[in-house]
Amino acid sequence: MTASAPIEVDLALLGGGGAASLLLAALDRHGVRDLRIAVVDPVRRRGQDRTWAFWGHPDSDLDPLLSASWQQVEVTTPARRRVLDLAPLRYAMLRSGPLYDRAAEAERRLGAIRIVAPAASVVDDATRVVVRTGDGGIVRADWVLDSRPRPPARPGRTTWLQHFRGWWLESDRPAFDPARAVLMDFRTPQPARGVSFGYVLPVSDRHALVEYTEFSPALLTDAGYDTALAGYRDLLGLDPAGLRVREVENGVIPMTDAPFPARPSPRVARLGTAGGATRPSTGFTFSAMYRQADQVARALAAGRPPVPEPAYPRRHRWMDAVALRALDRGGVGGPDFFDRLFDRNPAERVLRFLDGVTTPVEEVAIMNSTRLLPMIAATAGDAAHRVRDRLRPARPAPAIPAAVVGGPPIVGRGSAAR
Ligand SMILES: Cc1cc2nc3c(=O)[nH]c(=O)nc-3n(C[C@H](O)[C@H](O)[C@H](O)COP(=O)(O)OP(=O)(O)OC[C@H]3O[C@@H](n4cnc5c(N)ncnc54)[C@H](O)[C@@H]3O)c2cc1C
Repeated sequence: MTASAPIEVDLALLGGGGAASLLLAALDRHGVRDLRIAVVDPVRRRGQDRTWAFWGHPDSDLDPLLSASWQQVEVTTPARRRVLDLAPLRYAMLRSGPLYDRAAEAERRLGAIRIVAPAASVVDDATRVVVRTGDGGIVRADWVLDSRPRPPARPGRTTWLQHFRGWWLESDRPAFDPARAVLMDFRTPQPARGVSFGYVLPVSDRHALVEYTEFSPALLTDAGYDTALAGYRDLLGLDPAGLRVREVENGVIPMTDAPFPARPSPRVARLGTAGGATRPSTGFTFSAMYRQADQVARALAAGRPPVPEPAYPRRHRWMDAVALRALDRGGVGGPDFFDRLFDRNPAERVLRFLDGVTTPVEEVAIMNSTRLLPMIAATAGDAAHRVRDRLRPARPAPAIPAAVVGGPPIVGRGSAAR
């Protein structure tokens, strides 16, 4: 592309990662044709750069792409191991490679133009949006869907990160139960401020993704993640001598009540983490991205503006702000919080709540399962903090840090491929 050849499209996607891939797949699925689309991203996403775990109803169009799915999951605390039957939902694992391939196939069928350059500036005059790209090009679009990573609009009252490292482990002998995933295992040593847990996503009796995750304000060091993950491997009773680490996955996801404005201007909507699709209390993002992709595709198929509904209802964002505050200020212990949630509600209700699709009556039941006094204290603290925020001059929010990526871990006798 050259600066002298502006590209005219109906829809420009800025960012071609998770949210955009799900959207391209949804446009294809809904039979949207004759729409001029441009995808702007300096990187053409391919291969395995992340593994998505999410729950949902079986038989979605993603089913053929899944590496595994489980009807049962475990939630374990130092006190007990609980096996949850998720019916009618199921927990599923989608590796990024198959989704990026599906999106590339959809992109071809939709005749989309791919611009391998960063979007540098976006100007919306309410009738058209002009995007200038880093290679000097110009894209003029009726609508822009922007999923470029960005910090929130202002600092949150609680700013945590979900940060993790996972090892794709291969074992010499059967070591995993492929019928069951471990959703959260809180037997890991708990950080002074924050929550930690391990989880296991088996794809066969010899292969699994084993992760160590923290919800806390700051990242660990490279060695810190390896030590924590090795500790969790030992807790699972896995023999390091019989294991090889085939791949390593690192990530950082914001967990904050800071705002991610989803509609920055009349003809621009934000998708994915940048648009608020990351659930503040859990970091889960995938289901909201999938739901919003479907809404946008349906809207375009019906000739309506491609603007999705908010990722989560306002009352859910408020409940998350209170829960995050209670966890951060030490009023509530993480393992205890999740233990009570799963103890006092059917698993399916908790999972639908975390996806933001429960009814107010169900939400009262969820709230009743938490400890009352710390939650009241956190609610009052949240309200006071909101008032203080209104009186303070606006400050920029810190950027979301990049994941810590280190050298090959010292585990078992294998080496890691990255
Ligand atoms: C390792 C990892 C594992 C995760 N696992 C889960 C999970 O199991 N379940 C879950 O629900 N969520 C998970 N998440 C969170 C979330 O689902 C993912 O981060 C998801 O990829 C978010 O999609 P996105 O489109 O918002 O961002 P991304 O997928 O990160 O895509 C953003 C895109 O923007 C592009 N970009 C950057 N700058 C520019 C620019 N200037 N112009 C144009 N493009 C630009 C990037 O190259 C990238 O392709 C995970 C996240 C990570 C990092």
